[in-house]
Amino acid sequence: MESYLAELNDAQRAPVLQKDGAMIVIAGAGSGKTRVLTYRIAYLMSQGVDAFNILSLTFTNKAAREMKTRIAKIVGNSEAKNLWMGTFHSIFAKMLRFEADKLGYPSNFTIYDTQDSQRLISSIIKEMGLDKDVYKYKQVYSRISSYKNSLITVKAYFQNAELQEADAMSKKPRLGDIYQQYVDRCFKAGAMDFDDLLLKTNELLNRFPEVLQKYQNRFRYILVDEYQDTNHSQYLIVKALSDKFQNICVVGDDAQSIYAFRGANINNILNFQKDYDNVQMYRLEQNYRSTKNIVEAANSVIEKNKTKLDKVVWTANDDGPKIVVNRLLTDGEEGRFVAGSIFENKMEHQMKNGDFAILYRTNAQSRAMEDALRKKDIPYRIYGGLSFYQRKEIKDVLSYLRLIINPKDEEALKRVINYPARGIGQTTIDKLTIAANHYKRSIYEVIENLDRIDLKINRGTMAKLENFVNMLKSFQIMNETSDAFTVAETVAKKTGLLQELKKDATPEGIARIENIEELLNGIRDFVEGQRELADATGSLTEFLEDVALATDMDKDTGDDDRVALMTIHLAKGLEFPFVYIVGMEEDLFPSAMSMNTRSELEEERRLFYVALTRAEKKAYLTYTQSRYRWGKLVDAEPSRFIEEIDDKFLDLMVPQDDYKYKPLIDTDIFGEVDKSKFRQKKPSNGTPPPSHKPTDEQLRKLRKLRPATSPESSTSNEPAVQLEAGNEVEHMRFGKGKVLSIEGVGQDKKAEINFENGGIKKLLLKFAKLKVL
Ligand code: ATP
Ligand code: MG
Repeated sequence: MESYLAELNDAQRAPVLQKDGAMIVIAGAGSGKTRVLTYRIAYLMSQGVDAFNILSLTFTNKAAREMKTRIAKIVGNSEAKNLWMGTFHSIFAKMLRFEADKLGYPSNFTIYDTQDSQRLISSIIKEMGLDKDVYKYKQVYSRISSYKNSLITVKAYFQNAELQEADAMSKKPRLGDIYQQYVDRCFKAGAMDFDDLLLKTNELLNRFPEVLQKYQNRFRYILVDEYQDTNHSQYLIVKALSDKFQNICVVGDDAQSIYAFRGANINNILNFQKDYDNVQMYRLEQNYRSTKNIVEAANSVIEKNKTKLDKVVWTANDDGPKIVVNRLLTDGEEGRFVAGSIFENKMEHQMKNGDFAILYRTNAQSRAMEDALRKKDIPYRIYGGLSFYQRKEIKDVLSYLRLIINPKDEEALKRVINYPARGIGQTTIDKLTIAANHYKRSIYEVIENLDRIDLKINRGTMAKLENFVNMLKSFQIMNETSDAFTVAETVAKKTGLLQELKKDATPEGIARIENIEELLNGIRDFVEGQRELADATGSLTEFLEDVALATDMDKDTGDDDRVALMTIHLAKGLEFPFVYIVGMEEDLFPSAMSMNTRSELEEERRLFYVALTRAEKKAYLTYTQSRYRWGKLVDAEPSRFIEEIDDKFLDLMVPQDDYKYKPLIDTDIFGEVDKSKFRQKKPSNGTPPPSHKPTDEQLRKLRKLRPATSPESSTSNEPAVQLEAGNEVEHMRFGKGKVLSIEGVGQDKKAEINFENGGIKKLLLKFAKLKVL
């Protein structure tokens, strides 16, 4: 047997070794589904399948890169380089560039991000004279997006009386017209939005049988990770491409389907067996990721869902510590608890920052966590939220770069035609927009033809427009012979962008310039990285594609050590030794907006299952007693999901019978409690406010007290071990060692120890579990 196959258990090896045919691996979290996909690709290649003939679809591009690295280790780098692996969006954007002309698009089409799409929709609503409070642009955008993902084109929309009626009922009878305008405007700007990348791929494969055949023959082996979260559009693409050879392997977990709100269709996984001939179904049952306590607690939660496939998940790992549940007064306290606990765990277990994740239901919750981490000097990274590439100054530079590649790009043009200010006013831009709509051309084409269309623009402004176009043209010429970095650096200087920002000497202004520097450095790295690849050159087009399709996870280069903060949705597929799930409160998690139907609630429960199963060694659940929601401080109740975990897996850190008013755990790292803060919160008459009355069940749990001497709440003043240089000691992990020196006093006392297994380490004695020999 090839040695890498020994890194799989029997159940995992079976789908890896089944070379041909359709197969589905359904298995719970942490059971090695992603590992099976990775090794299967390596195995196919070892059996003589050309990398060129394998297509692998993943949830993030980062996951694809990691898989590729692993495969390269097994089969060799030069082979692995040619694999097509990535997200649906990035893979099919690549395919569309080759075939764009068939759909009437230029191969250098722009990819509009959500912000571009929403801005365009917002201007269309304005231009059509519609009420922006009725036609909220974000809502309109998500409605159009859901049509596209269900393959409802504008034409199909206007043939569907039911849809039109539904929109009319929700007071938006003009939605179809907005949709039409939006699609037209994207087309003439040579732009596709995210949903188009899937919709147009479907169109391409449907309308052009020879194209379909070409890719069917090319992608003889198709693999899909996280299949439970594919939407209809993605499903159809996979189905079409795999139809000829039917060598398809999908892996997924129905219990981790968490994107129904964005159109993911769980039926794709449930119906897979009907879609292909002789489908082999594989199940994996052993979890390698987490401790017994975590695996069994997660099982006890997901059991409550009625809609699910029966699955067994067990682990041979240790029991591990129980799941810590803690209640804090406010989100500020919650942040301090989490930051303090991370600090302690790092010391006690010699962990890195990157071993910790803080997961939450909504992005807004990150702020309190950030504040607390910053105060403790713990480096962190936030995933999601406003991404680097969406910051104004960055988007401005990128808009110029996009225009170099595709001057028809309307959203980019509108952003920078008069930024930095060059005397082209809004009236002129409005005139150009109206003319562009009238002639069904892009704004850029109108500007180029101003000598033939009289828009009554004065001479001075005409000259300014001409200068702008000439500047773009000079960049285009440069781009023909230069790499992305050289072009971008020139753009930042020659457009006046940098000079404009330099006028602002405030810290924010300086930060903007630094951001642009960071962008340029990023482009330089990208260019250097691309040069190592077989089919890439480091061009501007490649860079822009990379930026447009980078998911939040992709920016994690993994080269610096930080605590990860992200929503649970983004955490799918990842794993961390320590996981903190914060904001475990009713109305927040489960979300108030997802409690109307059982199926919504079940999706929230699956989300909780995903969160809990990210943890390898220890999980923490925290909730607060009151929280600011929509600007008001409201009472919070513990989430029903805490209730749903079997008691025996929980370690409740709530204080004694009046637990409401005395948060046990608000110590700083040295165990000091700031009592003054809590006294003010206590009502003067000492009776709890009625809305807080816990249920009997809650009380039962919460009263299962634990003493205040857990590592997280330790208040002892002296380190347990007294030590001096020369002592022989033994440590749980590092084995025997000799104390070299001692420094610091009291709580701060550290020992430098030379361990047989671990080399020289500096340990904080307060936490280090040392035995003097
Ligand atoms: P999720 O459902 O969260 O996506 P998954 O089923 O894809 O999880 P993997 O991420 O592939 O699971 O594996 C979970 C962890 O277990 C990884 O760290 C992986 O390296 C490890 N693992 C998987 N199989 C084995 C095995 N046979 N031996 C040792 N470790 C394994
Ligand atoms: Mg996985």
